[in-house]
Amino acid sequence: MSEDEVSCGESAAGSERGKNEKAEKFEFQSEAKQVLELMIHSVYSNPDIFLRELVSNASDAIDKLRIEALTDDKLSEFAKDGRIDVLVDRGARRVAVSDNGVGMSRDELISYLGTIARSGTKEFVRAVREAAASGNADLIGQFGIGFYSSFIVADSVTVSTRRAGTGETWVWSSSGDGSYEIQPGERDSCGTDVSLRIKERDTHGEEDPDVVESLKDYLSEWTLRGIIKRYSDFVSYPIYVADTGKAKSPDEKPDEKPAPANSMKAIWIRPEGDVTDDEYKEFYRHITHDWEDPMERVVYRAEGASEFHALLYIPSRPPVDLFYREGKHGVQLYIRRVFIMNDCRDLIPEYMRFVKGVVDSEDLSLNVSRELLQQDRRTVMIKSGVTRKILDTLRRMKEDRPDDYKKFWDAFGIVLKEGIVSDSRNREAIMKLCSFESSKGGRTTLQEYAASMADGQKSVYYLAGGEAGALSASPKLEAFRERGVEVLLLCDPVDEIWVQTAPSFEGSDFVSISGENVEIPGSPSEDSGEPGEKDKKAEKTKKIEESGIAGRLKEAVSKLGGFAASVDDVRMSSRLVDSPATFVQKGERISPQMRNFFKSIGQGAPEEKRVLELNPSHRLIEKISEASEDDMEKWATLLLGLASIADGERVENAKDFTKTLVGLLEK
Ligand code: ADP
Repeated sequence: MSEDEVSCGESAAGSERGKNEKAEKFEFQSEAKQVLELMIHSVYSNPDIFLRELVSNASDAIDKLRIEALTDDKLSEFAKDGRIDVLVDRGARRVAVSDNGVGMSRDELISYLGTIARSGTKEFVRAVREAAASGNADLIGQFGIGFYSSFIVADSVTVSTRRAGTGETWVWSSSGDGSYEIQPGERDSCGTDVSLRIKERDTHGEEDPDVVESLKDYLSEWTLRGIIKRYSDFVSYPIYVADTGKAKSPDEKPDEKPAPANSMKAIWIRPEGDVTDDEYKEFYRHITHDWEDPMERVVYRAEGASEFHALLYIPSRPPVDLFYREGKHGVQLYIRRVFIMNDCRDLIPEYMRFVKGVVDSEDLSLNVSRELLQQDRRTVMIKSGVTRKILDTLRRMKEDRPDDYKKFWDAFGIVLKEGIVSDSRNREAIMKLCSFESSKGGRTTLQEYAASMADGQKSVYYLAGGEAGALSASPKLEAFRERGVEVLLLCDPVDEIWVQTAPSFEGSDFVSISGENVEIPGSPSEDSGEPGEKDKKAEKTKKIEESGIAGRLKEAVSKLGGFAASVDDVRMSSRLVDSPATFVQKGERISPQMRNFFKSIGQGAPEEKRVLELNPSHRLIEKISEASEDDMEKWATLLLGLASIADGERVENAKDFTKTLVGLLEK
């Protein structure tokens, strides 16, 4: 059994039961253990973040309860006044973060707190480890490690929680040493208390006055208030801080209402100049739980027919769920500062699903449902405003910060390109943001391509299907290279789709150079050979063309069967310079890679028809034109194989191919 399989399973029943009869002991999942170990043993440069993480979880839990209450009337009375309490007791060395949110069931406790479910767990653990190993504590500080960050400051953590809609309370506790316990408990209503016992020993378990001293601050109400103000000011529920260990002062009025430690001001409403970079980054962390800073932020205020505020971010790297249908796509929706829903897909087009953030509408109705939202005219207006704003931000980024834009394109270009197909209104703008591999090396844009077109060139030429390296080696490029005509190398499957949806750019058609009858603009560069040599060569070529070799090979191909059945014709080519032969496609422009893709998802593709084109000035073709009729099928097998290999495809029957090749070489 692998480590993962034992993880979070119950350990040998009963044998481990400790002090409490009903307590059950569990092992943490292996990755969780590793992160915990790092939390406990690393010198963490910024222990303050434990509070930010716990408050963020508390705020998420209240959001979740409100979402559930929308469809479950029984929960609505609990979902009214969300609040977070931070309680400190210096004498007991305890700090607790308490919320009246959704809470957790016993199973949820096991799966949420016993494992790390975050996206890209393995990569995350590796990154945290590397940061720790590099000895640069600042680096570790950049990771938000969620709930586990409690163990930076605490030597034991107790979570008491009651799931909304149930009557059961469960208490989870651990000292971070590889296992945790769960037992029944008591709680009046739904929500969660996370209680930490602040450490007084060093990482080796020795009593250490320095550790006691350095963490003592977290037992001060004022320190805690300061941390909340700094990291969690924008949290939309009040966070109250109270010292429960403190004796009440005699002159304190009993009905005095304490002020929350956070202003609850929506960061997206505040004028951009009043918000610091750090505040924007903190907010990004809060909503995404991403440990890397975002690449770009967009602050947008729309007035007029539909009024709304938006604060949007482009992350620095693609999330793992980018291509999952069920992924967390979309943005948060607020209506007049009230949180409505997470992952709202109606406010942002699918091809911008990497964008994270908040949209706050001034005019949608507070009791809007997901279904109504889709049909609302104002939703459509928000979506189109947001889309244009993001495209404009990207355009400026591309012009002003090309290096950053390159990073953006590497991470999200493949998704943005989908917009060429799905968003006809913004098609031109999206096409201008695209960047493609070029047959001339490096990358190019459509505008750059158009600007450097050869004399008389009317089309944008492209070759699709496969990696840039393989495409760049294709024989089909030979004549284009010789004439200095650039060809775009389209490597993503989505390219083959948009290139057929958007068949032109600024008046130039897109033409696949693997199609038949492609006109190649310009003329071949002048031969530098001896005068007269050119004429001799032309004469030879003519002789080969007239030898009827194409017809004889076609006849031979038709006898081969298997893959050869897709080869419909054999012809002389004008697009080859150095290679003996290549395939071109008849009719439907669809690359072999795309065809395989369709097959892999169980979809049919149009019947495959190819033409084998021969290079009349190639020595091998000359030889074949003189070869005996008995060998013609062997030569046909050889040419089909070579053309497949040059296209980056597999030779169908490698064994036969090799045998034929060796046989011919021996002769
Ligand atoms: P993250 O918040 O990044 O998902 P955490 O380790 O902080 O990771 O938390 C793991 C999960 O535990 C959360 O996603 C949430 O489902 C649950 N959780 C944590 N704290 C609370 C809380 N106060 N109330 C309810 N659920 C919580």
